[in-house]
Amino acid sequence: MSSITQFGTMQMLVESLLDGFVTAKDMLKAGNTGIGTGAGVDGELILLDGKAYQVNGKGQVQEVADDFPVVFGDVHQAAYQVLGQYENQSFEDLSSDILQAVGSQNLFLSVKITGDFQHVQTRSAQKSEKPYPGLGEIAKKQMIFNQDNVSGTMVGYYTPSLYEGVGVPGFHMHFLSDQKDFGGHVLDSQLKNVEVSIQILDALNVKLPVNNRDYKKADLSHLDHLSQVIHAAES
Ligand SMILES: [Zn+2]
Repeated sequence: MSSITQFGTMQMLVESLLDGFVTAKDMLKAGNTGIGTGAGVDGELILLDGKAYQVNGKGQVQEVADDFPVVFGDVHQAAYQVLGQYENQSFEDLSSDILQAVGSQNLFLSVKITGDFQHVQTRSAQKSEKPYPGLGEIAKKQMIFNQDNVSGTMVGYYTPSLYEGVGVPGFHMHFLSDQKDFGGHVLDSQLKNVEVSIQILDALNVKLPVNNRDYKKADLSHLDHLSQVIHAAES
């Protein structure tokens, strides 16, 4: 059984603690597959086959440098099992099929979907500078991208409700096209002809920014605020 390594927490993003504290290279040392975001919510990251790609705030895709600073991310070593081929289905329908197949909503999973997509809608954020704004301000500056008939890979995680605030509850998926010209944080998607693989993960290893002054000084006891912002941002 393999585990997820998570750098940072969702609460850090909510409370505007957006300093990078780990590099893309360090993330890749913890696994070859994952998702994340850069310091200051600098775009959306997708880690595939040991390489880290960023979809920036303009929607451009690039492989990031080893020293690219990351504020939040999940990574694991891929060992997926094929669940099946799926045709003409929304991701929403697929996600309930996945949970049904796993037989539980209480486990960490990674999901990888490869093939042809009828439609994918993504978002990506523009990097913010210090003093960092709240997620609401960041959301105003993010862009939404749509692509029809695109081949690519969607990868991400399912997090049980209990871990809300540590991570993002439910499915959190990022997309990268095979052409590496489109991607981001998935808002909506319609699958055309894809292979769906899943990997159950039995442990969560959370890495915190032990040397970051702002993080150490922050009052992170307002969990009601956390829950409110997460529900506003992820819906
Ligand atoms: Zn995301």
